[in-house]
Amino acid sequence: MSLNENIRIYQNEETEIIVNEDWCKSCGICISFCPKKVLVEDEKGRPVAKNIDACIHCMLCELRCPDFAIRVRKKKIALANNLEQKSLED
Ligand code: SF4
Ligand code: SF4
Repeated sequence: MSLNENIRIYQNEETEIIVNEDWCKSCGICISFCPKKVLVEDEKGRPVAKNIDACIHCMLCELRCPDFAIRVRKKKIALANNLEQKSLED
């Protein structure tokens, strides 16, 4: 990554959503496809993860973005919690 890239990072305990504003063309596809309405438009039409707590890590935003401008990362703490939960259920 070059230094002039504008990266916006949104995060909570479980999720990290990274938007590369230099690559984003404000097409709105990620916002339209998000089933949980996590993303809203900023004044330039770029996604803002306003409702990040609702993210279910379906990855649709990342997969549908034609410009690879948005990435979603499920944090390790969430994975660890899921494993713990699973072992309790077993
Ligand atoms: S991963 Fe799914 S739920 Fe999360 S922001 Fe992207 S489209 Fe929405
Ligand atoms: S789909 Fe990609 S290019 Fe289109 S608004 Fe979302 S992040 Fe930007």
